[in-house]
Amino acid sequence: MATNEQISLFSAPALDNSAPAEDFNADLIPTSATIPIPTGIYQTMNALAVHCKQCQRCGLANGRTNVVVGRGNPSASIVLVGEGPGQNEDEQGLPFVGRSGQLLDKILAAVKLDTQKDVYICNVVKCRPPGNRAPTADEIAACRPYLMEQIRMVKPKIILLTGATAVKGLIGDKRGITKIRGQWMEWEGYLCMPIFHPAYLLRNSSRETGSPKWLMWQDIQAVRAKLDELVEDS
Ligand code: SF4
Repeated sequence: MATNEQISLFSAPALDNSAPAEDFNADLIPTSATIPIPTGIYQTMNALAVHCKQCQRCGLANGRTNVVVGRGNPSASIVLVGEGPGQNEDEQGLPFVGRSGQLLDKILAAVKLDTQKDVYICNVVKCRPPGNRAPTADEIAACRPYLMEQIRMVKPKIILLTGATAVKGLIGDKRGITKIRGQWMEWEGYLCMPIFHPAYLLRNSSRETGSPKWLMWQDIQAVRAKLDELVEDS
């Protein structure tokens, strides 16, 4: 199969876009994880944020300062998914705003991707796990419908998954990030790539060939090239 044909397989998002049942009470969504969130319930990112900001669907609600919904362009070509808010994010109510966020912005800018214009950034959980621990499977499951709605509304050409928790949380692949980073994967009709989390790069400063920073540079250039290809074909 030609490359262009393979790429076209990824172009049509396959998430169900059906409207919720007429008798569904949307006001119940934030109260408990047992209340389902139907696909297509939110028409705008602001409407989703209203529910997120009052959400009590999991225990992470108890320790948060702010709910961290997302930042960037809700019509972007790329959605970047992280693990969950850290201290800076929790305080400011925005994802990837600490040192990790600054490094992420720099990495994206190096291939002329503007985080306000070209990317929508969010996390698998919207509230900060205590002590920066990884979110549990139950917490990820409780928050997942919000993430699914975010992806549905943005309809990106590419999804970047930063770190193993983001990969596991969205597409269920439990392999280590060093094994799968830089690989294109298909999930629900979307083209996805796992990449290192910028916090990991901050802990590994070497730029030598084969180092995490060097690998990230290869990956982000591959993302840029693929995006150019997809835009050209559309
Ligand atoms: S992490 Fe998600 S599901 Fe849990 S309280 Fe926050 S917004 Fe709700």
